[in-house]
Amino acid sequence: MGFLSVLSMAHRWIAERTQPGDVVIDATAGNGVDTLALAQLVGPRGTVYAFDVQQQALEATEARLSALSAEDKLPSLRLLLHSHEEMDKLVDADHIGRAAAIMFNLGYLPGGDASLITQPSSTLAALDAALAILRPGGIVTCVLYPGHPGGNEEAAAVEGWACSLPRVAGQAVVYRQLQRQTAPYLVAVEKKRQPD
Ligand code: SAH
Repeated sequence: MGFLSVLSMAHRWIAERTQPGDVVIDATAGNGVDTLALAQLVGPRGTVYAFDVQQQALEATEARLSALSAEDKLPSLRLLLHSHEEMDKLVDADHIGRAAAIMFNLGYLPGGDASLITQPSSTLAALDAALAILRPGGIVTCVLYPGHPGGNEEAAAVEGWACSLPRVAGQAVVYRQLQRQTAPYLVAVEKKRQPD
């Protein structure tokens, strides 16, 4: 059977920490696959923010979620054509410190412009912003793609960020197939549950 894929593991770790009615964020909406999964987890009483710098991605995401609106299962959905590094300014003030889960799926838009990729400096700024937006016990997941140009440097930057997080801020883990160094892998941080 094998181990879960990195994306399935990210979804599992998020599902374990998310309830209906929660606030969640997709930091890289892409084609909306993760946004849809997040929307299904939080349900119609929840709130989903989805960020992308490409209109095409937000349109694909909106289309993917239209099936939920037809069934009245759509959460409050905020599609934001902004870089995720601005998320702390764009998320409602009363959602700061309350998000259950924030997902990053780096790299380029599948089926889109492969030269438009996430960049280490904005990714790290967004991860810092994400930690501030999470509630205690909330999770940020980040799927890394070391196999494409630029991806390895970005993956190393994210790992460095996670390694240097103070343990009072949260617990950082990695989920990775060790024999395929170019395969996507997952870094996750659970925000400290109780401040020391
Ligand atoms: N590589 C993944 C999908 C990644 S999609 C896979 O194969 O499943 C990554 C998305 O991040 C793209 O749609 C891209 O437009 C978006 N993106 C790039 N830079 C961004 C930024 N600064 N803020 C928000 N989204 C960004």
